Amino acid sequence: MKYVDEFRAPELISKAGEEIRRLADPKHHYRIMEVCGGHTHAIYRFGLKDLLPENVELIHGPGCPVCVLPMGRIDDGLSLTANPEFIFAAFGDMMRVPGTHGSPLEYKARGMDVRIVYSPADALKLARLNPQKHVVFFAIGFETTAPSTALTIIRARAEGLPNFSVFCNHVTIIPAIRAILDSPDMRLDGFVGPGHVSTVIGCRPYEWIAKDQGKPVVVSGFEPLDILQSIVMLLRQLRGGQAIVENQYKRVVPWEGNPAALRAMAEVFELRPYFEWRGLGFISQSALKIRSAYGEWDSEQRFTVPGVRVTDPKAAQCGEVLKGVLKPSQCKLFGRECTPEQPVGALMVSSEGSCAAHYNYSQHRPITIDAAASL
Ligand code: SF4
Repeated sequence: MKYVDEFRAPELISKAGEEIRRLADPKHHYRIMEVCGGHTHAIYRFGLKDLLPENVELIHGPGCPVCVLPMGRIDDGLSLTANPEFIFAAFGDMMRVPGTHGSPLEYKARGMDVRIVYSPADALKLARLNPQKHVVFFAIGFETTAPSTALTIIRARAEGLPNFSVFCNHVTIIPAIRAILDSPDMRLDGFVGPGHVSTVIGCRPYEWIAKDQGKPVVVSGFEPLDILQSIVMLLRQLRGGQAIVENQYKRVVPWEGNPAALRAMAEVFELRPYFEWRGLGFISQSALKIRSAYGEWDSEQRFTVPGVRVTDPKAAQCGEVLKGVLKPSQCKLFGRECTPEQPVGALMVSSEGSCAAHYNYSQHRPITIDAAASL
């Protein structure tokens, strides 16, 4: 298939692996962060770590939106299900994320009206079909999904639909990268930049990372060859003493992003002064809230939620794993109390969570290049 097969071609993957080994200075230990959870998943799924020399280490970043959502926000959203007139609608990957009193799926098992939707537009449809109920869409994601939420809210206002609102948890990627770079226990050489988010925001917002912090950034696609090529591009920059932003994912990511999507976001959202991230704490101007002009479609402006702060179970080390300080298998609960079937932390729930990816793919033999190509 065009755009897939050529990015899984074994001979090209082998060549990229050789180029990485050639470029990596044996006297240096490289620490490269892949920001996006989609990259983390692909790295484990295709066994790409097995193709890297030992001194090229991949650090998993905070780009899984389910993983960075603090438990208190899940509790707040689910508190609305206490009203039998409400339908709680969320994406499937939210369904097993644990809140203090259970996951959305467990709430559903107890009789609350919890539904899986595939898009915010599906949630809007639910509202049209159930005029006697109020549909709360639990919105989550980075700039990748925020535009579709914005367009749905614009649509709800255009239709004058009164029984629909959005519980908004959209976050923005740049402040999270800044928080990681400000973290004193974090040493990084460069970033594999997020591919999905960049389709919306483009590459320009990463320029400060290169200019001010001296770290190269390569925006990358998600196929094995994309990721390996991005590592080659990063190592070339590091070998040449360069730090710039490059776009490996040109077939999808425009340098200036998607102006229509950015306009829709600017119309509906404004920045929250601060927002809590699991593992990273409160980060200023790192999340979106719905503007008062659209307040009628904002669950938080229309209804009261407890606004609770909940700390993760003491033994859970999600924060350290999220910051890349610990590897998933170094968490005391990994694979014992915490598994994809019985997740303690959100990193074990989403397929983009580093713990779930590590659990699902690392217990097996290292994958061969030919096997990776046929996946
Ligand atoms: S194994 Fe579970 S508790 Fe530990 S960091 Fe991963 S998700 Fe969190």
